[in-house]
Amino acid sequence: MDCLFCKIVAGKIPSYKVYEDERFYAFLDIYPCSEGHTVVLPKKHHGRFTDMSQKDAADLFSTVNKISKVVEKNLGLEGMNIGINNGEIAGQTVPHVHVHIIPRRKGDGEGNMHTIVELHPSTDNLEELAESIRNSFD
Ligand code: AMP
Ligand code: ZN
Repeated sequence: MDCLFCKIVAGKIPSYKVYEDERFYAFLDIYPCSEGHTVVLPKKHHGRFTDMSQKDAADLFSTVNKISKVVEKNLGLEGMNIGINNGEIAGQTVPHVHVHIIPRRKGDGEGNMHTIVELHPSTDNLEELAESIRNSFD
């Protein structure tokens, strides 16, 4: 087991735990983007979100929903960014799937999902692209 987050789950590396149940674990990020930055993960090792079954992913997001409500209330927040860096190319640095809950506060001056990737590709082919993806479902 050479995975940082598996080691945290197993208690071999300390963490600032905020939640734990049979299948999920959450702790404060040690390099927080904002105060209260929380990371939620399944205890079972999956590399990327897209490696998970639909059922496991649904359960993960149900748990994220539960934890984000508590974080929101506890910190008196009006909102947060909730997201995943899925794959190294997308900025994932720890290859054990996890969801970031990043508290946002009035006047913090930071951006939104649209400011993560701003390639602004041509939109000429949206019809074909949508059709191609639509036709790829099993
Ligand atoms: P990502 O870049 O999406 O893979 O996110 C990994 C996150 O884990 C980063 O936000 C790191 O700051 C955080 N992180 C790395 N090591 C630790 C650790 N030992 N305890 C808590 N958070 C960590
Ligand atoms: Zn792992």
